[in-house]
Amino acid sequence: MEIQLRQPLVSRVCDHVWLMNDNDEATGYVVIGNKCAAVIDTMIGLVNVKEEAQKLTDLPVICINTHGHADHIGGNWSFEQAYINPADLSLAKEALSIPQMKEAIQKLGIRFPDFLPINDGQIFDLGGLELQAYYLPGHTAGEIVLLDRADRILFTGDGVIEQIWMQLPESLPLEMQIQSMQRIQHLRAEYDTILTGHSRGPEAAELFDELLAAAIDLENGNTADDIAYQWFGGTCMAHPYGREPRRIVYQG
Ligand SMILES: [Zn+2]
Repeated sequence: MEIQLRQPLVSRVCDHVWLMNDNDEATGYVVIGNKCAAVIDTMIGLVNVKEEAQKLTDLPVICINTHGHADHIGGNWSFEQAYINPADLSLAKEALSIPQMKEAIQKLGIRFPDFLPINDGQIFDLGGLELQAYYLPGHTAGEIVLLDRADRILFTGDGVIEQIWMQLPESLPLEMQIQSMQRIQHLRAEYDTILTGHSRGPEAAELFDELLAAAIDLENGNTADDIAYQWFGGTCMAHPYGREPRRIVYQG
């Protein structure tokens, strides 16, 4: 089977931020400062992400992963180095060792980057614009969010997202997700917009409040309205909240 690279749908969110939508499967971002730019998440791997970013800026571009899932690190191959929370390093390496990924790597003649660690609280200075990383263990152990204070945007990967998946083998207990969200609750006044790893456009910051309230509700055992949820890994449970079709998916 021949592997065809494809072009994402690119749209501007604000002066410094561009959204790349890869076939509605995953979303990445280009954030452009005065001295360099950052790509946040590289989608499933069928886009030359660095090349796409360089269409928007001549500045050097760094790559930051919100977590180690394949639909976020897939396009890391276009970079020589990529940042990731060390807690997700083994997950990222596992994603790269699945047969389809191995085949694609071989056929495209590519190599994956050297991974560099992200520390909790680390600041990426893009020049006139900073991205600060905060650990948010829950969906995966190494999930992070990135705060762009200048644009009042929180980039959340799959850590704060309208339909959060907590049923995966690598997901931590829901209690951890709640603790992680409470730990970054003090940032809440510093952003108005959330951009997730699967957004087609900006989400209101209230998503954070709704999701946290729903997670606490679920942890308290208010599960009478929960329904069985089918996914490719089997059956689990879904806890509806907020506006449909928002759900927290968890092990029933
Ligand atoms: Zn994920």
